[in-house]
Amino acid sequence: MTLAYRLSPLSKGSPHRRLLVQLDCPVQESLISLITRASAANAFDRQSQFLDLTGVETRRPEFVAFTRTDAVAPIAELLFGSKKIVQERLHPRVDHRGLEGVVDWFGTPLPRRFIEAERRRVSPSSLRKSAYCRSGWMIRPLTFCPYSFERLVDRCPYCSRDLGWRRTRGITLCEGCGKSLRRAPTSKIPFELRADAGAAARVIDCRPEVRVSAVNALPPPFNYWEAGDVFVAICELGMVESRLALPYRSPALRAFSNGDFAGFDVEELVAGYRIVRNWPTSFEALVRRAVAMHEHETQSLRSMLGALGKFLVPSASPTAITQLVREEMPAVAQSLKLPIKSARSAFMEGGRENGLITIAEIASQFQVDIKRLNQVGGSLHSLVTSSQCPRGVRLFDAAKVQAAFETRANAISTRKVCSRLGVLPFMLPALEEADILVEVGNHDARVLSAPDQIYQLEPIERLTARLFAPTVAAQSMPP
Ligand SMILES: [Zn+2]
Repeated sequence: MTLAYRLSPLSKGSPHRRLLVQLDCPVQESLISLITRASAANAFDRQSQFLDLTGVETRRPEFVAFTRTDAVAPIAELLFGSKKIVQERLHPRVDHRGLEGVVDWFGTPLPRRFIEAERRRVSPSSLRKSAYCRSGWMIRPLTFCPYSFERLVDRCPYCSRDLGWRRTRGITLCEGCGKSLRRAPTSKIPFELRADAGAAARVIDCRPEVRVSAVNALPPPFNYWEAGDVFVAICELGMVESRLALPYRSPALRAFSNGDFAGFDVEELVAGYRIVRNWPTSFEALVRRAVAMHEHETQSLRSMLGALGKFLVPSASPTAITQLVREEMPAVAQSLKLPIKSARSAFMEGGRENGLITIAEIASQFQVDIKRLNQVGGSLHSLVTSSQCPRGVRLFDAAKVQAAFETRANAISTRKVCSRLGVLPFMLPALEEADILVEVGNHDARVLSAPDQIYQLEPIERLTARLFAPTVAAQSMPP
């Protein structure tokens, strides 16, 4: 810290405004920390009074980095006379993929809701090492200091008041009771999570070169994404992974999307980081686990995926991770042989995968009425996508379609059972009880045969053989 010299009195527009106590600015320090330290060092009671000198009038100094992006020059003059130091610590809105509420986080786009402005969050041991607030402490999904691995403290342990940015008793002190936060009780995150938690935090570090090396260590497509997009993906996937059992419409998931990180901790962060690092095999495993949890509930793709289905909701914000999940889903669904009726939005436009077949091809290959197929197509389990290409052509899993038609060819309908066995329809329940009438298991074959019901042919044939075989006695009787 460089102590320059102080002159008084200081008044608004004073020609002496540069003759304040000047401070070094560590590269990781946030703007509000710098303003707070400078303000305290110059014996101002409040940051807003200090900022008043610049003509930047505000009652919410904690939001200056977001709202007063026009005031670089006066703030720079007040603090250092270097515009660059202020400029790179501002978070103006940026246009990124047309998304709402994205700001510039030290050169990478990040949703504003990921950044905590109001609460002062500190790591006591980092404050002991060097008394300033690190920008990384503002990242809301990081509940710990990426440098000390201590859990961040945002409430005074002595007076229980929230820590904020309105008064300037000193950057290491509680502004309510004035006690030092350097020895505030806290704990470190579990040792086994630190390597991955630290790696996840480096993805959103305020130093671009740290971000670049963190992102380069990840597999494609993440290694050519914006670091901010990668960090959003880590958080979103971590949340989904830990809440996989929830339905995709769950209020907890919606709250998270709206910036409520209450249930998000280092375990979620690490889970998300591990999915990203092990992409794409981790994604297939995630889908498999989701389906295992929800398969019994429904046959709709979104619901079958539990929390993961939130990415397939048409109104979902088109973030990079949402689009990636939508792109990857058809191939994963194919490889897992999921019985899927897809949501229209579930898939991106793309080329046809091998092993897919259209309604028209089914009609000609299996010689069925295309009108009839169009009627039932939506309820077939072999339907993979309804909008794989721009015209909205429906595509089916060719192997499953084949199996359905083979099953149907080897089954027997109610009507034929009656005529073959010479029984009347009211007798059928008795045959069912005797396990002679067994409905076929293939869902698609049943749909294709509806409204006729179809049954397995084999038990019927066995019975027919026994009923109508010439008896031994008849055969052995002499002519
Ligand atoms: Zn206090």
